[in-house]
Parts: sequence; C-alpha cells; structure tokens
Amino acid sequence: MSDLSNLSNMSPKFTGPDVVRLMRKHHVTIEGLSFRLGISQKRIRNVREIGLTDSLAVRDWLQAITGSDPGPLPEKYRINHITEEGNCGFCGYPMGVGDETYGYMGELFCSITCCRKSRRW
Ligand SMILES: [Zn+2]
Repeated sequence: MSDLSNLSNMSPKFTGPDVVRLMRKHHVTIEGLSFRLGISQKRIRNVREIGLTDSLAVRDWLQAITGSDPGPLPEKYRINHITEEGNCGFCGYPMGVGDETYGYMGELFCSITCCRKSRRW
C-alpha cells in the first residue's frame, strides 16, 4: 500500500489525513516541514486538517515530506557552558548559557528563522 500510488489517479487531492499519515511515516515534524517549505507552522496545521487540492502544491508537499534531497534540518541546541556563548550567525543576537539555539550548517543561530535567512530564503 503506497501513499504515492493514491496520487497517480485523476484527482490531485491530498487529504488532511493523507498529509498526517505521510508525515508520520517519514518522521517529518510540523516544524521541519515548515522549514523545508518556507511556510508557517500555522499553515502546515491547517493543511493537516483540510488537505490540498492544487496539484502543484501537492507536488511540493510530497517532495518536502518524502524528498530525496530535503537538505539538513536545524538541530535544537541548548548552550551549557560559557565557552559556547556567542552571537547568532545571522542576526548577531547574543546567545548565552541556558539559551535554546539552533545548530545549522556548522553555525549557531538564535531561531529557525535565522537559520533559514542565512540561506537566503
Ligand atoms: Zn538570529
């Protein structure tokens, strides 16, 4: 039973439950998908309820969820020691001990948004 075969028939519709099931199957979080698609987590939650009808959007979502080359995702990292303190790699915000940061492409950022902006999207 393939999730993808369902979509090769005439209807491009990708229902909310389909999205939820596929994300679960590929271990994609709302946060991760939001990052890959460059859209808000609110919109992801909305689509998980109402689904997608536009065939181009369906294709983008499928690629983002199952994608062969989705790109690395930021990893949450809490600063534990004063030697790890530094500034956000994009906006320069000072990050200190106890702060939650995001490691991405070998740098630390203050937020997911800064990870993305550092990549110019
Ligand atoms: Zn920042």
